Amino acid sequence: MRAVRLHGKEDIRIDDVADVAPGPGQVRVAPAHNGICGSDLHMYFQGTFQADRGPIVLGHEFAGIVDAVGDGVTSVAVGTPVTVRPFHRCGTCYRCEQGMTHLCKPLSCVGCGAEGGGLAEHVVLPEHMVFALPDGVSLEQGALVEPMAVSYQGILRAGITPEANSVIFGAGPIGIGTFLGLRALGHDGVVVVEPSPVRRAAIEALGAATVLDPAVHDVPAEVRARTGGRGADVAFECAGVTASFHAGIGSLAARGRLVIVAVYEDLVTWHPNQLMMDELEVRTALAYEPGAFEAVLDLMARGHYRPDGWVEHIPLDAVVDEGFLPLRRGERLKVLVDVTP
Ligand SMILES: [Zn+2]
Ligand SMILES: [Zn+2]
Repeated sequence: MRAVRLHGKEDIRIDDVADVAPGPGQVRVAPAHNGICGSDLHMYFQGTFQADRGPIVLGHEFAGIVDAVGDGVTSVAVGTPVTVRPFHRCGTCYRCEQGMTHLCKPLSCVGCGAEGGGLAEHVVLPEHMVFALPDGVSLEQGALVEPMAVSYQGILRAGITPEANSVIFGAGPIGIGTFLGLRALGHDGVVVVEPSPVRRAAIEALGAATVLDPAVHDVPAEVRARTGGRGADVAFECAGVTASFHAGIGSLAARGRLVIVAVYEDLVTWHPNQLMMDELEVRTALAYEPGAFEAVLDLMARGHYRPDGWVEHIPLDAVVDEGFLPLRRGERLKVLVDVTP
């Protein structure tokens, strides 16, 4: 079967590899669409994966059709359209027992170094990773559940109250997911900050009313002006750069919270007193805790998270030229690779 494999820094090849068969308790999925994610870009351009363990199949954001099941599988059958929660867990450590399966160590994710990935004709998965798509949720949307759940975890970690003001830094897929998640939960009036005109236009088309260009606006002053001088109770950091970290802190209300959802490439320095003087908090969100993935799937079934205007499709053969390269240049938002022609 064909599989997109990362062999080293900036070295992706479409290889012919041995096909796989499901064992007991396992499900084989034929991926239909697989999204390219910021962490894929990090692995590709920075070489941040364990190359000594050999080439890895890429793809951790995908949906497809079940095409074989092993003994004992009961939740899905051959032909079921499914989406995939790609994280392994041991199920027995302290973290797993405390309901933090997403923090089980070592972090192990299909398509990021663990066996198999969504950018292949077949992938074999333990049954707990596979979720049948509800009526009304397409395979295209199914491939978006994973990144939207990352955004949703940020909202959960914010501990957001109904009357909270919030601001989102970055209108890439995770910022868009945060915007759509907040709206699904009834939060209107969210301020979005994004330097790229392409991304500003995309999130405006999705209904964001206040979208600021940080090259033009003094963002903390604007946020204060739009909240009656109070500031934002929550700032979602979905950009992963020094400027947005500082603007996020600077925009917060007393006892406000900055939630880091983005991955940073560079160090950020700040003075702890800056947090102390307003009793501010910095929190982080990683992947998604039990229930978050299911919550996004449920919201999708109720009509949220439409893919209109921000999702593009490319063929498998074009994964680098039409996927990784234009994404790195910031020319595209979310690219789904059509694995099954
Ligand atoms: Zn991802
Ligand atoms: Zn564990």
